[in-house]
Amino acid sequence: MLSDRIKRLKAYKTERSRAKVRLSSNELPYDLPEDLKGRIAEEIRKIPLNRYPDPSCEELKEVLADFFNVKPENIVLGNGSDELIYYLSIAVGELDQAIYIPVPTFPMYEISADILGRPKVLVELDESFDIDLDRSLEVVDKVSLAYYAYPNNPTGNIFSKEKIRRIRDKGVFTVVDEAYYHYSGESFLEDALSREDTVVLRTLSKIGLAGLRVGLMIAREEVASEIDKIRLPFNITYPSQVAAKIALTEGRDFIEEAVRTVVRERERLRNEMERLEGVEVFPSRANFLLFRTPFEADKLHSELLKRDVLVRDMSYLPGLDRCLRVSVGKPEENDAFLEALEGSLQFLTTSEKST
Ligand code: PMP
Repeated sequence: MLSDRIKRLKAYKTERSRAKVRLSSNELPYDLPEDLKGRIAEEIRKIPLNRYPDPSCEELKEVLADFFNVKPENIVLGNGSDELIYYLSIAVGELDQAIYIPVPTFPMYEISADILGRPKVLVELDESFDIDLDRSLEVVDKVSLAYYAYPNNPTGNIFSKEKIRRIRDKGVFTVVDEAYYHYSGESFLEDALSREDTVVLRTLSKIGLAGLRVGLMIAREEVASEIDKIRLPFNITYPSQVAAKIALTEGRDFIEEAVRTVVRERERLRNEMERLEGVEVFPSRANFLLFRTPFEADKLHSELLKRDVLVRDMSYLPGLDRCLRVSVGKPEENDAFLEALEGSLQFLTTSEKST
């Protein structure tokens, strides 16, 4: 029989609607250039598909170590950082000890706890979306593991480093999820390399390779080797290993340039959105913007969809009523979004007046 714990779970919510302009999943809006895809295809062709891939992903780890400026021994690979979140929730502390999660944030931390039946301590962020230190210190005795999205998804801000360290120093193993590191430049890498109670998560998903499903945990060697014991042996497919290696070496300049463009576009998009009446845009260090309008988020979401633009409704999360999140796209996609947003707001304003 299926466990009640699993029956009680809600399925993870992903945006399935179709639209020409898709700005709902914080992906990089640029695919790799054709010549590079040709090189990847050429190398994938050589793979013996009847064989298992290298379970320890040695060559890929060498490339990642170089790209992220660490040693291969500091890396544990996951099928996306999502998988590493599961591993950490299994491996850190005991299953009857709670996991601390500042909310609203990325849902996977809670989901991993629920799957394992681990207690959670959810502490709401303060009005500037930073950590509420006083409330956190009140509950800290009950928790053995803490997750911080850094920058936070979906609010886009960077939490105070000092507060994270204060909570950690009460004996809490600290996971700093730096999925959006490339857009913020802020990191706990030094802590992860110097301390056994801190690890950093990174991913290739936000820099143009979401389809490959490659995430990594960076930790001291003695921590990494323990977590690696529970990793499924062939969790990174052969084609993903080969494609990631090529993309991160031969495509490095392309990735760096694309990230710079997105950061520039983020600021332009924010300025343009702020000019629209009634729109409040929150500052972001990531590749997306959270915004609030006077209208119900689901109504605005469907108006945007009618105009062929897909964003994410975030209003189901605590403290985020009337909020949506838009990923930064290519300049022309951002223009299409701005036009759709303006049109939708006008439509909703007039229809509210006439009711
Ligand atoms: N962490 C955060 C904060 C994220 O926003 C995401 C993706 N939305 C992930 C992790 C998951 O990334 P991956 O594709 O590597 O599983």
